[in-house]
Amino acid sequence: MLDEVIEMREEMCPECQGTGYVMVARDYYSASYGYYLQDERPVVCRTCGGTGYVEVWEVAEGFGEVA
Ligand SMILES: [Zn+2]
Repeated sequence: MLDEVIEMREEMCPECQGTGYVMVARDYYSASYGYYLQDERPVVCRTCGGTGYVEVWEVAEGFGEVA
């Protein structure tokens, strides 16, 4: 008899390491400096939607050997 258990659990988002934000670098031209500067800013992580966690479906198969 094979028991198949599917359970959902939350894991820390691998994209943002649980912070909910990722740093995105972009270049922009500064008129006052007269050259390009690099701007780094946090944006909401698309993988987890800013929650810092992702839902993972896990299939655990039991073979009757679980103590
Ligand atoms: Zn994330």
